[in-house]
Amino acid sequence: MCGACRYTTEATAINVRACHCRTCQKASGAAVYARVLVPREGLLLAGPVGWYNSSDEVRRGFCTRCGSTMFSERISQGVIGLTLATLDEPHRFQPVEHVWVSEMQPWLRLGDGLPHHAKNAPSSS
Ligand SMILES: [Zn+2]
Repeated sequence: MCGACRYTTEATAINVRACHCRTCQKASGAAVYARVLVPREGLLLAGPVGWYNSSDEVRRGFCTRCGSTMFSERISQGVIGLTLATLDEPHRFQPVEHVWVSEMQPWLRLGDGLPHHAKNAPSSS
């Protein structure tokens, strides 16, 4: 939001998902966390990124100046989720499936016709 943190990558997206799990809700402060997953290698980061381990597997990256949620990194798999809303051109990516709808906020209605999974997507990464 403030522009202090910037990132770039030329990697091909691994997948694009909207996650409804409670941890993503808390980390993002929103009902849904939409992110594009890319390889960690090749991602260039600049700026005051802070990290918080939200589980043994995942750490969340945020701007320490304005607090914007920017990343969800799964270190053991070498992948990192880029919050769609923080992209310079967020329209370039759209989620292709919903995951963890078992924890979806009850007021939310999915009308996009995309596949949705109670927990992780099959063959999830
Ligand atoms: Zn999640």
